[in-house]
Formats: sequence, C-alpha cells, structure tokens
Amino acid sequence: MSSFKAAEKMKEILGRYFEDFKDSSNKVAWVTSVGPAELLHSFGFKVYYPENHGAMLGASKRASDYIPYANAVGYSPEICSYLTSDVGAFLKGETPMSKAYGLKSVPKPDILVYNTNQCRDVQDWFLFYGKYFNVPVIGVSSPKNINEVDDVVINDVANQIRSLVPTLEKVSGVKFDLDRFKEVVKKSYDTTILWKECLFFGKNIPSPLTFFDYNIFMAPAVVLRGTDDAINFYKELNSEIRERVSQSLSTVKNQKVRLYWDGMPVWGRLRMLSELFNELGVAIVVSTYCNSWIFEDFGYDFNKPFESMAKAYLELFIVRSEPVKEGIVTKWMDEFKTDGIIYHDAKTCPYNSNSRYGMPQRIQKKTSKPYLIINGDLNDMRLFSDEQSKTNVEAFVEQILDNK
Ligand code: SF4
Repeated sequence: MSSFKAAEKMKEILGRYFEDFKDSSNKVAWVTSVGPAELLHSFGFKVYYPENHGAMLGASKRASDYIPYANAVGYSPEICSYLTSDVGAFLKGETPMSKAYGLKSVPKPDILVYNTNQCRDVQDWFLFYGKYFNVPVIGVSSPKNINEVDDVVINDVANQIRSLVPTLEKVSGVKFDLDRFKEVVKKSYDTTILWKECLFFGKNIPSPLTFFDYNIFMAPAVVLRGTDDAINFYKELNSEIRERVSQSLSTVKNQKVRLYWDGMPVWGRLRMLSELFNELGVAIVVSTYCNSWIFEDFGYDFNKPFESMAKAYLELFIVRSEPVKEGIVTKWMDEFKTDGIIYHDAKTCPYNSNSRYGMPQRIQKKTSKPYLIINGDLNDMRLFSDEQSKTNVEAFVEQILDNK
C-alpha cells in the first residue's frame, strides 16, 4: 500500500463524517452498504454503515476476539463475520471508532434500513439492533440471482423504496422533498462515475495503484456517496493518479504479473498480502468487490429517482445470476489484461464468494487463464492460514511466470 497525498484529505472528510455522530440532536439512520442511503440523506439523516464498522473491526485485527460474544447469544460462527464481530464488539462495549474518531460507541439509531440485495444476514443484523434500541427496522426485500434487470423487478423494488417514505417522514419529522431526493441521487451518480474512473486507472500498464489501495480509497464511495465531500475527494484523488500515470509511477515496483481478485478482502491480512504481492511483482489491478460500488444506473433517469435507485441496486454484481456474473468477470479480466485470477472463498460470506459453483473452471475454459482459490474469511482470521496462502500464491505466480 502506498502513500497518496489524497489519503490526508480522506482522513479529514471521514473525521468530519464521524464527528457528526457526536451531536445527539442529529437523527441517525443505519443502512446497509448497498441500501437506499440516498433516500435517507434526502430526509437529513446522518447515515451510518455497520458494514464499514465491520471492516474497521477486521482491519484492526480485533474481529476474531469479538466473534465469540455474538456466538454466545446465538449467532453462529458460520454466518457473516461482519455481523458476528460487530454484534460481539457491541456486547463487549468496544469499538475501534473510539481511538480513531473519539466516538464512545456506535451511534444510537433512530431507524435501521436494510436492503437484502446482498444477503439475508443484513436483515437479521439490523433486527438485533432494532430490538436492542427499540426503533423501527424497515427495508427492501430484493430479488436475487437475476438474469435480466427488467421493468418488473425495477418497479417492484422502486415501489418498495417508495413505501419507506411515510415511516421516514415520521421518524425524521421532515416532509419528503422530491427535488432534494433527485439532487442526492444525482450526487451519488457523480460519486460513482468518479470512483469508476479511479478503479479503471488500473487498466494502465504499469497500474498506478492496486486492489490494496482501492480497499482504502473506497471508504468515501461507501459512506459518503451522495455528498459533495465524496465528489471533491475523488476529483482530487483522480488528478493525483492521473499525474502518476503520466510519470509511469506504480505502487508495485517491477510489475511482472497482473491479477484479478474476486471476493472479499481479508481485512486482517491486508498488509501481509500487499507486501507479499509487492515482493512477487504482482499488481492486483481489478476486483469484483471494489467495483461493487459503481452504481452507474443512478443515471438511468434523474426524473425517476426511485426507479433509478432500484435499477442501480439491482444491476449490482452480487444480485445477478451466475451466467451474468461470469460474463462480467471475463470482461474485466480481458479489459484489465490480467494474467490470471484469485478467488477468495470467504467462509462466512457465500454471497461474495464465487468459486463454489464451478465458475473458476468455466472461466478458465473460456479465457485459458489460470486461477487460484484461497480459503479464508473477511474478518474471522481463525479461518485464514498465512503459511498456506503464502505458499499457494507463490506457486501460482511462479506457474504464471513460467508460462509467459
Ligand atoms: S454480503 Fe457477506 S459480508 Fe456482506 S453483510 Fe452479507 S454476509 Fe456479510
């Protein structure tokens, strides 16, 4: 992972974002990472993302310590380790946000709003907190495994999002303002286009940044999309990256191999993996996970913000059928000129693990590019073997170099 000047700017805007949660007069809505945040912003809610907290727990390497506390109250070690580490940390009364942003605990929600487009776990997760804080839990039950995003599914989800409005008006005390809503959706679109531009710099040879940089710089796309802070940040970051491209600077020196990373990051081993790939001259130039925050369909029709949101949230990789997913991965492998692909099979997140139904084998047949499957997890580091992963990656890269 390398030092970008924009990292300072990101620290500043995230600091401001978390500072707002200290003001108890602000109404707070919790939302899932690909949930209807734009609608919540339009009501003036401060929007909090428990998944971002889950990632912080993983990156702080404390997640595995907290998971047993959630297991003790009935949440299985087999389910989402964002959920179990987040609930476990809450039960233990700790959060990495204390040290990083001076917050004593997670912000108390006035309402929780989920979208099951990514998984069922988010609904269960929010129900835990809804019960604890005695506040409403509402959301969208999304179709999954979609081949074609047609009007039937768009209208279904758009109507579900629309039906959230009366409860949001009641909890916020603010009347719904269609123009304000359209404005936020447009800003989300602008954020997403800039984020895409950032990720697509990875097509350059050498790539100016890699998956490990994307993991860091994706935070504003997740927690601040729909805001001016996010838009200004990505403009600044992208101009810095453009400058690096013009000088052929890259975060991985002596790039010999270009890879695709499918699946979630191993949050507790980001540094270790980044250093390993760096040493091997491997640039991971594209990933399914970071590209999941490209919501180009917000631009579908700015006069129909509910339909635009529904389309954007349905077009996402995680919501699509296996053949559609396969097409997307194959296309990106080609566009980013990758030499192979690594699938991270995250034990507690089957939804972001794409190696379980024959996809690696089918894509290899189509592209003639090799693949490696790494067993691990996003947050539960008891499921990840440093030694085994290192050995497998080294052998995989050697095989690619031998065939070049
Ligand atoms: S998609 Fe995976 S990591 Fe994300 S909340 Fe669902 S189970 Fe957890």
